[in-house]
Amino acid sequence: MPLQADLREVAEEIGPGVVADRRDIHQHPELGFQEHRTAALVAARLRDLGLDVRIGVGGTGVVGLLRGGKPGKTVLLRADMDALPIEEANDTSYRSRNPGVMHACGHDAHSAMLLGVAWLLAHYRDQIPGNVKFMFQPAEEGGGGAQRMIDEGVLADPPVDAAFGMHVDTERFVGQVALRSGPAMASSDRFVITIRGKGGHAASPHRTVDPIVVGAHLITALQTVVAREVAPNEPAVITVGSLSAGTTNNVIPDTATLTGTVRAFNPDVRQTIERRIGELARGITRAMRANADVDYRVGYPVLVNHPESVALVKDALGNLLGPSAIIEREPVMGAEDFAFILQKVPGAMIHLGVRDRAWGRPRPVHTATFDLNEAALPVGVAAMAATALRFLEEGVS
Ligand SMILES: [Zn+2]
Ligand SMILES: [Zn+2]
Repeated sequence: MPLQADLREVAEEIGPGVVADRRDIHQHPELGFQEHRTAALVAARLRDLGLDVRIGVGGTGVVGLLRGGKPGKTVLLRADMDALPIEEANDTSYRSRNPGVMHACGHDAHSAMLLGVAWLLAHYRDQIPGNVKFMFQPAEEGGGGAQRMIDEGVLADPPVDAAFGMHVDTERFVGQVALRSGPAMASSDRFVITIRGKGGHAASPHRTVDPIVVGAHLITALQTVVAREVAPNEPAVITVGSLSAGTTNNVIPDTATLTGTVRAFNPDVRQTIERRIGELARGITRAMRANADVDYRVGYPVLVNHPESVALVKDALGNLLGPSAIIEREPVMGAEDFAFILQKVPGAMIHLGVRDRAWGRPRPVHTATFDLNEAALPVGVAAMAATALRFLEEGVS
């Protein structure tokens, strides 16, 4: 298809529009399941392109369907729309206008790029063999928006044969893409443990059951699960991220609450950790005359990129960007709810380099100073479009 050769050029031509969309969305960040403005912008744009548009899918999700001029398979491309509860510290013309909320994970760029891909492919629809489904999901940051959209049919009608997602990568430079075949991102679960003791005067601890001391023992014991019970060659994390108890220095409180996250790559390890957190919490609190409520919430699964899809992406993007631009990615303990999609259909997550070569160090996601070099956006548009076209031309399902 001659279109393949022109992709970079056309993507660069529409680059300013993609940057403008990114800045617009960046200035108006919205938290998970509250992406009303962003979803309205996305839906209006997709309708202008003549796509079939569904709104309110899985809350605030939007789905646009582009039917190509020739029959073929259906490929899904996914962007996420939600921001984070972070106060932006950058002083740019396009900084967040929504206090306490910031696009600090690049989802503004993901949405703007996918709109660019929709524009690009819609203008060549006659040449496209098959359908492209554009998925704009809510609540990637812990809300499981992708699962909600699956529940409400994003993978059906027409059924999706393969799915590709893209995420900014602050370690890689503009012009690079990184991906990995097989398990690439960890599973992610949450827990809340409430320790119930018996409060009283801080000077009479013998008349109380001090939940803070029990909590301290429990936190220490939790560290032994990964260190002593999980095989050293299995990646796993238990982090207690918050411990809250008490109100003042001279009162022993009734309760202490700790919350944390569990990351793993192996489902057996994940199950072992869940079981051991419960056993330790109940056993230690009982031994120390308290008791515990354990609320363990299973979150995102391991993200597994399908080998045949990764091979397709590497081939398509090797042609587009040059073979040296494709970087093998190390597994990371971060999580992604695109994993739910990849449990249902083959596909892959592509990580787009957004680091400016002039920056001495990366500007990591989930920080108040996160930013990206916008020269990466046309690269991402071309890469997503090239991947979709390559799949539709060849098919790998
Ligand atoms: Zn994030
Ligand atoms: Zn993200």
